[in-house]
Formats: sequence, structure tokens, C-alpha cells
Amino acid sequence: MKLTGDQHMIKRINKAIVLDIIKQDAPLSRAEISVKSGLNKATVSSLVAELIDEHLVFETGLGESSGGRKPIMLLFNEKAGYAIGMDLGIEYLLTVVTDLSGQVVQQYETRLKDKSPDSVIAQILEVYEHTAQNLPPSPYGLIGLGIGAPGIVDSEGTILSAPHLRWKKVPLQKRLAEAIPKPVLVDNEANTGALGEYRFGIGRQSSNLIFISVGRGIGTGIILNGQLYRGVTGFSGEMGHTTIRENGQPCPCGNQGCWELYASESALLEHAAQHWPNETVTVPLLLQKAEAGDDEAVQCLQQFGRDLGIGLVNIVNTFNPEKIIIGKQIAAAGKWIHPSLKQVVKSRSLSSHYNDVNIEYSALETKASAIGAASLAVQQFFMQAS
Ligand SMILES: [Zn+2]
Repeated sequence: MKLTGDQHMIKRINKAIVLDIIKQDAPLSRAEISVKSGLNKATVSSLVAELIDEHLVFETGLGESSGGRKPIMLLFNEKAGYAIGMDLGIEYLLTVVTDLSGQVVQQYETRLKDKSPDSVIAQILEVYEHTAQNLPPSPYGLIGLGIGAPGIVDSEGTILSAPHLRWKKVPLQKRLAEAIPKPVLVDNEANTGALGEYRFGIGRQSSNLIFISVGRGIGTGIILNGQLYRGVTGFSGEMGHTTIRENGQPCPCGNQGCWELYASESALLEHAAQHWPNETVTVPLLLQKAEAGDDEAVQCLQQFGRDLGIGLVNIVNTFNPEKIIIGKQIAAAGKWIHPSLKQVVKSRSLSSHYNDVNIEYSALETKASAIGAASLAVQQFFMQAS
């Protein structure tokens, strides 16, 4: 039987619904899918047969019977293919390989040798080649590459401006796509971090969440009603440049007193370096000092918590989010920064807004942006597969 265009479309939608149910609720039987989806059993059986042929679903042992023959259960084949996700930082390139359910199966971190676009692109391609050649065997193999990049990224994956890399108008996605025979997707790293937390991290139950990427600057990724909010041209989330000191330090963005000048990881480390001028102060070292009872280290972290909190007040009052997730390396400092941060947010936010917000620290360690970037490739794969 030949299907019309509309019938094709309906079939694709139904197949995506069936696959989503299996991804979320497996193991389950064809009969249970029929109940959950509202599709009749014959339709479910035919769609499941296609998904099995495509290696996306497989049958497993027998389930519980409510009387009569025990049903065969279905599982999502999360190992049917793999995606590469990269978090391009200012100093580093963090690469993960995930399966189709976002589980990290490999991870590499390399230092950037040189920050020029040509050099960074060459390094990305080198890591990509190495990673692509060392994937576990699977029916689909490598399905694509996603990258979370710093700065302002447009919808074509061009980095319009990344001041910390000194990049302007670098068509990263286009240049990588010319060299890589798989789908390549580039988005802002705070956006991919928000997706990583929402899809696979501590944000899974929260459809209104803000991810705060605290690194060289501060970026924010905004999930509203279960969707990434990109703004009209894709540039939302530059909350790091909201003003927290009217006559504060000048910022490269042209403003002064920007939040990220006081509450980024660089700001914390510059402040700490004044106390230990003869040491290279890093976040792990500062935490080690705090653990050992060093008052100056504890005070640095408390001050940082206050400054981070001041910016969060603006976010709490503007977005009324369910959850705010502080991400990147600083997430490990949660224990030290949280009391002062919470005190500031509680005393300055509108109480109606504050009461409903949870402020938490990423449990994906530093990997949220890379995992979220890989999920862009996974999402694209499923859109094409169904
Ligand atoms: Zn600024």
C-alpha cells in the first residue's frame, strides 16, 4: 500500500511517540505501549517491528503477566550508536562520547595549544579523528558531533564574538562540517550545559531551569517550559554582563561593573592570588586550603558566594525558575559558597519567587556542556531516524 504525504507524516509522528515511550519507560510490552500511546495494538506492533529492524529497539525476556501468556518486553537499544560532544573552553577542550541515552562511555581532556581559530579547529579535528576511530562497535557507529562553544553563537553555528578566545565571526560549524562527514552542531556552551542538565543531570524533572556556567566569564542557559530559550537571534543568556556595581571595573563588553567581573572563576582566582602571590592558585587548591581550615581561603569563597548570589537575585526575580544549577569546576565549591550565596539570594529576592527556587550544584562534574552538546547530535539523529 502506498502512503500519502499526510499518512507518512502521521506514521513518523506515531513512531517517534512509540520510541519515546520505550526510551522513557522500558522495559515494557507492546500492549502497555498501546495503552500509553492510545495507538491500537496492530499499529504499535508494526511500528515496533520497524524499530527492531532499525536496531533501535530489542526484545528481552518475559514480563509480568496479568493472567494468560506472559508478554515479551521491549528495551531501547541505547548502544545503537554514539555521539561525540565537546566543550570548547578558553584553555581546554573536553570531549565525551555518549551513547544514545546520554551515558558517557569515553572522556578526554586536552589543553588548547594555541587559541587561533585555525589551530583550535585543527585540534578539534585531531581529537575527533582519534575519538571516531576508537568507538565501541555499533549498528550506526558515530552519529554526529556537537560542540558547546564560548561567546555569542548564531543559529548557523558561527561564533560571532568570543572575547576570551579573541574570536570574531568564526564559522566553526561550517568549517568543521567541511571536514567531517557526519552532522556537526555548534551552540553556546551555557545552552548545551542547560540541555545536559535538563536531559541527563539534576535538572531532569525541572522544565523551568537556569544553568549558570561559571568559567572565565559567566554564561547562562535558559530552559523555559521544557525548551531551550534562545532569544530572537539565538543570543539569549548573556547575564554575565548584567551590572552589579554601578561604578565597578570596566568590562571588555563596554559596560562596567558586570556580574562576571566579580563572580566568574577568573574573578575568584584573581582575588585569591592576592593572598598567595607565590602560588598558582586553582579551584582545587583553594578548596584544599579551605578543607584544611585556612580562614583566608574560606573568606575568598564566601565573598565569591555573595557576588554570585547578587546576580542570581536578578535571575530569580526575572524568571521565577524552579531550579538554578551552578555548573563547571566551581560546582565542586558548593559546600563553601552556598551559605553566603543563599543568604544574599534569600534576603534580596522577592520572597514569593525565592520560596520556589532550588539552587543546586551540577553533579555532572564539569561535563554538562559536553554531554548537552552530544545530545544535540543525538536529537538530530532521532529526528532523521523516525
Ligand atoms: Zn560586561
